[in-house]
Amino acid sequence: MPENKCMKCGGPFGPYDTALHKKLVNRGAKEYMCSRCLARWLKIDEELLLSKIEQFKKQGCTLFL
Ligand SMILES: [Zn+2]
Repeated sequence: MPENKCMKCGGPFGPYDTALHKKLVNRGAKEYMCSRCLARWLKIDEELLLSKIEQFKKQGCTLFL
């Protein structure tokens, strides 16, 4: 069973955080970062990261269904 916690801070995920991690870091990932740690890792604002969720949804990305 994969830990359902952020691999960096141990915090809980938002609903699309695992999808974001798969899309932006590693599609085969077994451990995930929460959107906060992911934004920091990518060196972008968390708001920008969250806006990408809508963008990926509009693109029809199957990870974000
Ligand atoms: Zn985290």
